[in-house]
Amino acid sequence: MENRGVASFVQAGQRAGEWHRKYLEEIRKCRFDTIAVHGVYSMQEALDFNQGSIIEPVYMSTSQAYRNSDEMEAGLAYQIPTWCYTRIANPSVYYYEGVLALLEGYGSGLETSCMATASGMAAIQSTVDPFLVDDPRKPGGPKNFVATCQVYGGTFQQFAIRKEKERGIEWRKIQNPLDLDEWERNIDENTRFLYGEIPSNPLLSFFDIEKVAELSHRCNLPLIIDSTVATPALFRPLQHGADIVVQSVSKSLAASGFTICGAVISKKNITTGIDNDEMKADFASYIKLLPNRDNGPNISPMNAIMALNDIRTIRTRMDTVSCSTQKVAEFLQEHKFVESVDYLGLPSHELHELASRYLFLADSEHDPRYGEKVNRYGHLMSFRVKGGAQATRQVFDAFQRIFRATDLGRIKSVATIPAISTHSQQGEEGRKIANIPDNLIRLCVGGEHPDDIIRDLDQALGTLDGRKVPASAPDYSSGGASSARLAP
Ligand SMILES: *Cc1c(COP(=O)(O)O)cnc(C)c1O
Repeated sequence: MENRGVASFVQAGQRAGEWHRKYLEEIRKCRFDTIAVHGVYSMQEALDFNQGSIIEPVYMSTSQAYRNSDEMEAGLAYQIPTWCYTRIANPSVYYYEGVLALLEGYGSGLETSCMATASGMAAIQSTVDPFLVDDPRKPGGPKNFVATCQVYGGTFQQFAIRKEKERGIEWRKIQNPLDLDEWERNIDENTRFLYGEIPSNPLLSFFDIEKVAELSHRCNLPLIIDSTVATPALFRPLQHGADIVVQSVSKSLAASGFTICGAVISKKNITTGIDNDEMKADFASYIKLLPNRDNGPNISPMNAIMALNDIRTIRTRMDTVSCSTQKVAEFLQEHKFVESVDYLGLPSHELHELASRYLFLADSEHDPRYGEKVNRYGHLMSFRVKGGAQATRQVFDAFQRIFRATDLGRIKSVATIPAISTHSQQGEEGRKIANIPDNLIRLCVGGEHPDDIIRDLDQALGTLDGRKVPASAPDYSSGGASSARLAP
């Protein structure tokens, strides 16, 4: 029996919910940059509840206090908007989730929701696990999922080791994601989802998402897309048929590099054969309120606000770094010690045309600098050095400005050799199928002036000519206190 006190809190909660829906309707009418800057934090919320703070406050509190037992009861039954306990929800995390949901849905007319996680890997794990439940009505063979093999190294490990080796859930690898027949051949009655990374890290593989989405829905399966490399400023997969997007927000979205964080963004009423109405209706909210409440992979409020501050400028940043990367790629392409350059913005790239159908700078048609839709290809590129693994290390070791780090999407340019870093765990065989040779350098151009990055690349490649490493290069090889680090 529900007493009157609980009912009054529920009614107040409904009024708050109604007000909030109206706010969302208004903010959805704004352009991308306005949404990125303001998100779901309204002036009314600032003035009435947060002492006028124009920036979203960091609620570093583990839990929420309730006025009385009635409000607590209504809150813990999820009958009123509430956050209870920071493992489940938190106001600062809510601002982060709100803006990411709006940006992924931008321009699509779709209603979206978002669930924040402590990392991109946690976002992937939280997304795929609910589809891998045992289904007593479907004894069949072992469960499987179909995913491209051109995926981030951590994703490769999660799929190959944690899912396939440890749990016997087969990963059916798509070698050529452009081949729709290959996708279709791999799907059977025990398939639970389709998964791909667009563009992929580091090789920028790309596929025709609309065709794969059509296939996946025809087979009653959800399509999950990792869209970390593009960010919603360039590409919004939900609009092209994906059911769920995962983001490693740690990367370009939170470019200043203060935090690791992730997000799952879904549209309403996803396609799946799993018999769970709540999950189908609103996937991200479902995992937030149930499985993740129990598993606890959620983000810290401090990290959420750090990321939020970067998200505000994502569109203009992606524009700048895309233009700079284009210039750097064109330089490298002409260099005598470079075997090849992989960048979707180069017309010579075999996927340039396909990528150009999907990757556009959001709102460029409303940007006075452009006045039309313009393609932008992001800041991930890779190149192969002539002369094999040793020559590649020599060039890499000679960088003076570009940091050697297994990272990407930073405001500072970073580079890595995937074969010895991000993709080392998957072994030679795994690298071969993912096409990661040992002379590949992944480069992520940051916010510096591109001429300075070109200068750095030129002097580093110049060492292959027998040119000396410039004397300014400090020698860290002897170690000592200044280079002492924690073991990885
Ligand atoms: C980095 C990355 C991830 C993993 O994200 P974390 O935040 O590091 O856990 C997943 N997918 C892609 C494409 C990535 O680049």
